[in-house]
Amino acid sequence: MADTIKEQAASACGCGTDCCDTATPLAEVRASTGCCDDGCCDDAPAQFSGGALPHPAAGARLPIAIIGAGPVGLAAAAHVLARGETPLVLEAGTAVGASIRKWGHVRLFSPWRYAIDPAAGRLLAATDWVAPDPDAYPTGQELIADYLAPLAATPALHPHIHLGARVTAVARQGFDKMKTTGREAAPFVLHVAIANGEEETLLARAVIDASGTWETPNPLGANGLPAPGERAAAARIHYGIPDVRGAARADYSGKRVLVVGSGHSAFNAILDLATLIEETGSGTLIWAVRRRTIGQLFGGGENDALAERGKLGQRVRALITHGTLQLVTDFRVARIRDGADGVTVLSAEQALPPVDLIVAATGFRPDLALLHELRLDLDAAVESPTVLAPLIDPNLHSCGTVRPHGAFELRHPEPDFFIAGMKSYGRAPTFLMLTGYEQVRSIADALVGDWAAARQVELVLPETGVCSSDRGEGGDSCCGTTAAASADSGGVSTAPRGILTLPLVAASGCCDPATEGNCGAPTLVGAGTNVQGQGGGRCG
Ligand SMILES: Cc1cc2nc3c(=O)[nH]c(=O)nc-3n(C[C@H](O)[C@H](O)[C@H](O)COP(=O)(O)OP(=O)(O)OC[C@H]3O[C@@H](n4cnc5c(N)ncnc54)[C@H](O)[C@@H]3O)c2cc1C
Repeated sequence: MADTIKEQAASACGCGTDCCDTATPLAEVRASTGCCDDGCCDDAPAQFSGGALPHPAAGARLPIAIIGAGPVGLAAAAHVLARGETPLVLEAGTAVGASIRKWGHVRLFSPWRYAIDPAAGRLLAATDWVAPDPDAYPTGQELIADYLAPLAATPALHPHIHLGARVTAVARQGFDKMKTTGREAAPFVLHVAIANGEEETLLARAVIDASGTWETPNPLGANGLPAPGERAAAARIHYGIPDVRGAARADYSGKRVLVVGSGHSAFNAILDLATLIEETGSGTLIWAVRRRTIGQLFGGGENDALAERGKLGQRVRALITHGTLQLVTDFRVARIRDGADGVTVLSAEQALPPVDLIVAATGFRPDLALLHELRLDLDAAVESPTVLAPLIDPNLHSCGTVRPHGAFELRHPEPDFFIAGMKSYGRAPTFLMLTGYEQVRSIADALVGDWAAARQVELVLPETGVCSSDRGEGGDSCCGTTAAASADSGGVSTAPRGILTLPLVAASGCCDPATEGNCGAPTLVGAGTNVQGQGGGRCG
């Protein structure tokens, strides 16, 4: 017999007490947010507000529709309320933060002080919510339990949030994309798939799309399409960051695993897999990246203004040094073959050793299909609003800084429609919640016609410490790289092309003013390594 509320919630959800760490009565937990990791609370009710979707009376002022109840969607709702407007939050999942639940085991690299939106914080401050330690680092699950769920439960926001409501399309009522005259006066119409398989239509006077990109990961194929064989091998591939030390432990224990892709998601997956290997004493780990060189592969290290983000790459680097991780550079996935000895990933030039499982940490892209009938101004490559693209394009931008931006940069030819949050960055990888909070503050101001406030965007983002990422495919060429990390250039004679197996010593961040102008100076050396000339410096 479970005697605490926490234990009751845990047992009712069929999961461990850790994932149900709440003092909230069980009925409330289950009815409002669901309490555990994905899968534990499948029976959580779909309708958060407990009723049908709202249809305002004829002539009534229409709400501002917000697609997605992630951190940015909920912050948008708080800002819309603060400006005296009515939000209508439509969330596809059965609980708020549905995408974050998929990576709930991952610890954020930014502390609580960067995770809480000011308007949301004000709503919470009016309740008995206890603010988390601003210097602590929550996991995704803690972000939900200690912030998003209490926020969604505030009396101010609660009635406006609708779960199990997936927006499938947005248009102007009575106007297809081609029709212009009178268009701007027409309300938006949203098609919404609800839990029982039916589709509803809702009207809104404005729309903020904060639906994120988590549901549309990039495929493994280097040309942006699923590689031949990728779909057939789907059972062997996990897109994202599997919980290999928790729910997926048995699946990954003792297995040969390949991680494809760079960035913080890859770091997180690799670190967890390496820990699993250490704990179980079995399994192998290969990491394949497209980059020819490893100059900025490991992030900004000590130069990263977010210390925990900087450390991720450095810990991965240490795994290579210790031989736990085999790195394969200059590898572009061209084909995947699933066979009796495992799944084999091939580039145009080589085949990797067969593995049991693949983790695809290849980034995400926005789902633009639901916006097809709207007039959008998106960058052809980044798929973010055009004005924003040069600020975030990993081919161009420097040091992970993005100048403050808001409604003005996020506008589209379709008035009163905005894409915010992770999705506003399109395919660019460096989005931070802080950015999204300032975006939606500005958008809410713009939607009530206060363009003066909307234009006053203020935001100081913690730099990544990485000057610029790949300039050109697999590049790092901004810093005058003098040697490619390819076995073709010597180095590891027995390793396949681009595999790095020998120790690296001495690392340099790249935004350190001390190294500015020092481009091309060797910073990674080691007998027999195939890497040199990875000098940091602000060369872009
Ligand atoms: C592993 C990982 C770690 C991260 N760590 C940090 C960090 O430390 N610090 C930081 O600042 N940022 C971090 N980020 C980046 C970013 O801040 C988060 O991804 C954040 O969750 C983005 O918030 P969002 O509200 O824009 O989108 P999401 O959190 O993705 O929320 C989108 C919501 O929309 C819903 N949705 C999707 N499609 C529809 C639809 N058609 N209709 C209705 N609802 C829909 C989804 O279910 C989801 O609930 C991290 C990202 C990842 C993946």
